[in-house]
Amino acid sequence: MSEQSRTVLDRLDAVRAEGRMPFSVEFMPPRDEEGEARLWRAVRTFERMDPAFVSMTYGAGGSTRDRTVRVTGEIAETTTLLPVAHLTAVNHSISELRALMGSYADQDVRNVLVLRGDPPGDPLGKWVRHPAGLKYASEVVELVRELGDFHVGVAAFPEGHHRSPDLDTDVRYFANKLRAGADYSITQMFFDVDDYLRLRDAVAAADPEQGAKPLIPGIMPITSLKSVVRMAELSNAKIPEAMRAELRAAAGDGPEENRAAVRAVGIDIATRMGERLIAEGAPALHFCTLNFAKATSEVLENLGMLPVGV
Ligand SMILES: Cc1cc2nc3c(=O)[nH]c(=O)nc-3n(C[C@H](O)[C@H](O)[C@H](O)COP(=O)(O)OP(=O)(O)OC[C@H]3O[C@@H](n4cnc5c(N)ncnc54)[C@H](O)[C@@H]3O)c2cc1C
Repeated sequence: MSEQSRTVLDRLDAVRAEGRMPFSVEFMPPRDEEGEARLWRAVRTFERMDPAFVSMTYGAGGSTRDRTVRVTGEIAETTTLLPVAHLTAVNHSISELRALMGSYADQDVRNVLVLRGDPPGDPLGKWVRHPAGLKYASEVVELVRELGDFHVGVAAFPEGHHRSPDLDTDVRYFANKLRAGADYSITQMFFDVDDYLRLRDAVAAADPEQGAKPLIPGIMPITSLKSVVRMAELSNAKIPEAMRAELRAAAGDGPEENRAAVRAVGIDIATRMGERLIAEGAPALHFCTLNFAKATSEVLENLGMLPVGV
């Protein structure tokens, strides 16, 4: 990776300058050796497709956390990809957050997606601040900025964050978080493009300067009805009724859902969402991959977003 392309914003510009619509992919930390091998297969497959960046989520378990930091560093060192490390405040003291950022800096990982994180085990459960930690992502953004030359992104919620009393309050806190020193944001996965557009317009109306920062939509190509329903529950995302009906019809009435039919519909849905988001001027598309490359690459192909020759 050249010095000129060390930040997410630089990479978005560089891909656009080549006449391509930028995309990024999200990986999950592997839990064991087998998971790590699968992750690396996905990393190498996506590497050929030249994403603007790849991000690595950050989990709760101690050994997974160590593995996450190591694998993110290895992506920085051994691939052409630009890794973005997710950093969460939950269950961490300020000194642990400082140490983590030190480990990332040592591995030349300078792009961070700063989050508050959810309570481990029950994402919708009570959020308890670490006695020596921070409460909101905006405070972590400030800390990371103080620590040095990091490029910071934050999370956005097209349907509003589930702990916010209403959308207006959520937009206000979101703009504050950007103002604290974030360069861009990535949204939670959503299934109704209107929600994304509403958030984009609300931030631009509330604070034009913050509203001008890239708001990157998060898309998950659906490959299983059962798992998407579970994921939507955990993240409080809604699946519009018409979409749910389309997926249910594909799944069929049998004891097991018809995975091939659900997958085909899921890829079609993600393609349609991508088309509309591109037409509306989204700065990039961010794909939640669950460490599988195939479904996302089919959507990218449908959208004509793969580099020539891939
Ligand atoms: C793209 C993306 C990636 C993610 N990756 C991970 C991950 O890797 N690991 C993980 O554990 N979780 C991850 N999450 C989930 C995220 O951590 C949770 O959704 C969490 O509940 C919210 O995090 P946040 O950073 O938006 O929190 P915050 O911005 O701190 O907001 C949390 C709540 O507090 C409110 N709030 C903010 N500031 C104030 C204030 N000053 N006063 C009162 N209320 C306030 C907000 O409106 C919101 O309701 C991700 C989410 C997204 C969208």
